[in-house]
Amino acid sequence: MDADVVVCGAGVGGLAAACALGARGFRVLLLEKMAEPSRVAKGEVLQPGALRVLREWGVAQRLESRGGLRLARLVARDTAGAPLMALDYDRLREQERWLLAHDYPVILEALADRLDGSVEFRRGVLVRDLLRDADGRVAGVRVAEGGQEREVRASLVVAADGISSRLRKSAGIPAHRDEYPHRLAAFDIADAPRVEQDFSAYVSERGLRLRYPLPGGRCGCTCRWVRTSCAGWIPTAWPAGSSTWCGTRRRWNRWRTRCGRARRTGRCCRCPGSWRRAWAFRAGAGR
Ligand SMILES: Cc1cc2nc3c(=O)[nH]c(=O)nc-3n(C[C@H](O)[C@H](O)[C@H](O)COP(=O)(O)OP(=O)(O)OC[C@H]3O[C@@H](n4cnc5c(N)ncnc54)[C@H](O)[C@@H]3O)c2cc1C
Repeated sequence: MDADVVVCGAGVGGLAAACALGARGFRVLLLEKMAEPSRVAKGEVLQPGALRVLREWGVAQRLESRGGLRLARLVARDTAGAPLMALDYDRLREQERWLLAHDYPVILEALADRLDGSVEFRRGVLVRDLLRDADGRVAGVRVAEGGQEREVRASLVVAADGISSRLRKSAGIPAHRDEYPHRLAAFDIADAPRVEQDFSAYVSERGLRLRYPLPGGRCGCTCRWVRTSCAGWIPTAWPAGSSTWCGTRRRWNRWRTRCGRARRTGRCCRCPGSWRRAWAFRAGAGR
């Protein structure tokens, strides 16, 4: 047996599973196909329930020491910014009275730093498929690493390879998935105007905009909309006003610089909609 457990995928799910299993003394092999953590604008706001576990592991403290921001409230607002509803975390137990905002790669890094000595973490390893024994039971995985294929045998395989998990399908485990008709873009704005230390969800007829402060004076934004064109909507409907938030050429150029990857590859993790869509936002910013 190469390991007690092989965990496939090192997103927050796989890293957390490896942390928990390693802390119990299991020999864990954690495999991730990406050579480097991807700079994805997702999973940046941690809720009190997750923070309770992360605090036990010392990960929440690490995130705060690396600039993580405490957010006191989650507020649903109308388009003018007036509160419609608020989740006030002051009502929770002490030590649990806030959300914590940080960049996703930093959250992954803090979890990876916490891995026990019994966990071996290998990047750049693609898990191709499940291995089965003579009885058809899962007995490990087949992986590709450095151009070579090999087998890894383990008592337990954890498929932490994301929402569309190929390993789950390969194991024949069904999962129900709700599809939503909305589109989504996530990005952050450098040098954003100072915003309240809360997680704000602006509700409008055309969709939902989420806004939260991030370390370094940045602001994280996620927009979900239901119509095809978002130009003119995302920038102009922010309550602080499009000219302050997005209307200057300089700020959009910064975003464009970040999105340079999209120009080369056609894909960009910081604006999942694509580079063309980034230009559509920018075009709308002037209106
Ligand atoms: C825009 C957006 C914003 C979000 N905001 C929040 C938020 O504020 N707070 C929050 O709690 N959640 C948020 N979420 C949800 C959160 O990001 C996900 O729930 C979380 O990332 C799921 O983690 P995971 O480890 O299960 O999967 P993933 O993050 O998808 O990780 C899967 C990992 O497996 C690897 N992998 C895949 N296939 C293989 C393979 N064959 N071999 C090896 N490795 C493989 C991938 O490279 C990846 O690293 C957000 C999601 C999105 C899209």
